[in-house]
Amino acid sequence: MSAGQGRGPVPWHLLPENSSIGSHGQLVIAGCDTLDLAAEFGTPVFAYDEEHLRARCREAVASFGSRAVYATKAFLCTAMARLVYEEGMGLDVATGGELHVALAAGVPGERLTMHGNNKSVHELELAIDAGVGHIVVDSFDELDRLERLTATASGDRVQILLRVTPGVEAHTHEFIATGQDDSKFGFTVSTGVAARAVERAGAIAGLDLVGFHAHIGSQVFRAESFAEALAVVGDFAQPFGLPELVIGGGLGVAYVEGEEAPAISQWSKILLDAASAAGITASLGIEPGRSIAAAAAVTIYTIGTIKELSGIRTYVAVDGGMSDNPRPVLYGSGYEAFLPREVAAARPRAARVVGKHCESGDLLVREAHVPADVTVGDLLATPVTGAYGHSMGSNYNKVLRPPVVFCRDGDARLVVRRETYDDLLSTDLGFSG
Ligand SMILES: *Cc1c(COP(=O)(O)O)cnc(C)c1O
Repeated sequence: MSAGQGRGPVPWHLLPENSSIGSHGQLVIAGCDTLDLAAEFGTPVFAYDEEHLRARCREAVASFGSRAVYATKAFLCTAMARLVYEEGMGLDVATGGELHVALAAGVPGERLTMHGNNKSVHELELAIDAGVGHIVVDSFDELDRLERLTATASGDRVQILLRVTPGVEAHTHEFIATGQDDSKFGFTVSTGVAARAVERAGAIAGLDLVGFHAHIGSQVFRAESFAEALAVVGDFAQPFGLPELVIGGGLGVAYVEGEEAPAISQWSKILLDAASAAGITASLGIEPGRSIAAAAAVTIYTIGTIKELSGIRTYVAVDGGMSDNPRPVLYGSGYEAFLPREVAAARPRAARVVGKHCESGDLLVREAHVPADVTVGDLLATPVTGAYGHSMGSNYNKVLRPPVVFCRDGDARLVVRRETYDDLLSTDLGFSG
């Protein structure tokens, strides 16, 4: 849709599931008035619908049981780790840091899967010490490291999966496509490297190879891409007769008007059908991240300036930006914008929503539409910001990371507080260090 063309209200299906309209037309999330949230916690703030998160977890667990694993890189704090674990999902962690947060939340090690294409010896030690359920091995170097580490360990054999690249193009952004042969991830199936990795792993006494893992990319809408990957991985895996096969995450979500994505339940059915069509007997696992968390949250900002450049465009600047949502800058991702005070208002006015960072590229919504009466001091919100926003955030320009609030039945629980200026100095030793 071209800039300047008027728009209706923000599409309702992009808002958290338990959204409603308050008596003054304002957005209410799970019984929490968004204007009150902004007043109480300040802006920017990530406001999550807790029940929405739980419902998505239950949807994944309904089809895959304990083999439904949440990809924590999408959004992680101890409250989220706890919620996911309570709902019966495992957690996938890809660094020592993610592992540390999941353990701090009280998630048992056995419910964790350790990922990463370049795990350090220290990260592997932490994972083994924590007794993680699986380590997903990504390279021969990692097998060498694990051989050395397990040679001296006294405990049980470490269960591993081998990550393989099926050679499937996932039709998504280059930076988040991971299934093609030209990838930093995994062992390539087509060249025989993956088969060699199976041999190598089998020769290491401390390791117990229980299956394979393939993740073709993220924000994938075409269900056939998953089915194709499953067919390739299934063909490869079947002769080894191993008990587990994990197909990764990657289910796309709708971010803007006109986009539609399959529900987790539909995606699950496609995967399970494709697996049985391919004659796969291994037990199937999934690792959704975005499809669990993205649509559960909105980010609420305050508008500080509005600049009308005559004949060019209108810039609406808010009190956050690429430090709380780098996706528009990284991938050119689109978002919608709306005013929480009147969520059902038509949005006839074209504008570009930008942040407060010292970069012209710092934009949140390149082609936004907002109500005609938008004004300085208004709250402005972007929906579908629950995944890869907070987790990819930064302190660029020494901007403070926003708080995270979980809304449920009218209660707003602060689960991550806003950073303070002193937090910015907490690792800074100056010359005295
Ligand atoms: C990123 C990632 C996921 C989650 O992807 P989503 O697109 O957020 O569902 C799952 N597994 C692996 C190995 C990943 O790298």
